[in-house]
Amino acid sequence: MPRSSRRNNKTLPQRNGGGSLPGCERGRILRARVLIVGLLGVLVLAVVLSVYLVNDTSSGHVSRLPAVDLVKDRLSHKPSKASAAQIRRLASLVDSARLWETHLQPILIERLPGTRGSLAVQQHIASTLSSLSAGWAIDLDSFQSPTPRGQVTFTNVIAVLDPTAPRRLLLACHYDSKILPPDPQAPGKVFLGASDSAVPCAMILELAASLDTQLKSFKQQKLPVTLQLVFFDGEESFEEWTDTDSLYGSRHLAELMAKTPHPAASPQATTLQAVDLFVLLDLLGGPDPLIANHFDNTARWFDRLISAEKRLHRLGLLVSHPSEQTYFRKDVYLGPVQDDHIPFLHRGVPVLHIIPTPFPQFWHTLDDTEENMHHPTVENLTKIMAVFLAEYLGL
Ligand SMILES: [Zn+2]
Repeated sequence: MPRSSRRNNKTLPQRNGGGSLPGCERGRILRARVLIVGLLGVLVLAVVLSVYLVNDTSSGHVSRLPAVDLVKDRLSHKPSKASAAQIRRLASLVDSARLWETHLQPILIERLPGTRGSLAVQQHIASTLSSLSAGWAIDLDSFQSPTPRGQVTFTNVIAVLDPTAPRRLLLACHYDSKILPPDPQAPGKVFLGASDSAVPCAMILELAASLDTQLKSFKQQKLPVTLQLVFFDGEESFEEWTDTDSLYGSRHLAELMAKTPHPAASPQATTLQAVDLFVLLDLLGGPDPLIANHFDNTARWFDRLISAEKRLHRLGLLVSHPSEQTYFRKDVYLGPVQDDHIPFLHRGVPVLHIIPTPFPQFWHTLDDTEENMHHPTVENLTKIMAVFLAEYLGL
């Protein structure tokens, strides 16, 4: 809340006592002067007291409105700058085979909300993160919601590295798959949503696995920022995309975080206010993604992605990557995209939306399969994200 730093100095009316006056007049003037001096004293006291009270109320305000400090800290957050040696090390930690075989394969099943497939993927994500040494606090956020297909149980999988840190960098994807009508040409074939969003989920698991040692020592330093991972359920609509038939998991979690106290920041803060930046990965995995910047208020973080891509390229650490700026581009913009960031964006959370536009050709078709994914692109994007996270958090 702005407050003026300038205080008004009230000027008192000047009295002109020119010429000589009779004795009784002098006595009256003397009494009047005493009165004026007395009034002046009271006025000075009142001004001093009011200044004191204003200061006291303002400092009280700071503690009552913790968002002010969280916003200030978020805006002034400086990423570290990884050296060439650190970039080489980060890139070497990304294990493409582990990403595809260990993290992705168990997600490439039909995973409609509230089904056994969904449960299996939740367990896969939770057990992968539990097996790491960094010590993630894992939470299954289950809730029920009406849908065009009746009441459905949804479950967001949430992992926080240090829940007691005041601020969080949030990295998210959705793990549910979409219901598609059966294709008479391909009976029995189900939609697997490899890019939508099995690969982004596998990328996040690989980032947690490859940076595990760094995240462990980062957590022990008890710094003001931590990392939160969110695997949303129910991003997809059951029928036509509407405000109520879509984004089930993210709508629920944004609302929940907006009313969950976050005493680590202050007694009045919420976990939503603690989110420095909401980074959303979606529709990644196909070849030649063109990823545009969507929001001016997070453009400096988009620039960090461009920079990471360029530095990795110059060091020869990206494969099938023709030019230093192949993916992240500020010279193209094809319009906004409805996605899991919307409920957070509408509550004032800064968003970095990492999604290719135009969408891949196989989007929402039975061809969104592993065969149509492009291994080098996925590996490159994971390396870029590793550098981004390491620099944001100062790993
Ligand atoms: Zn989709």
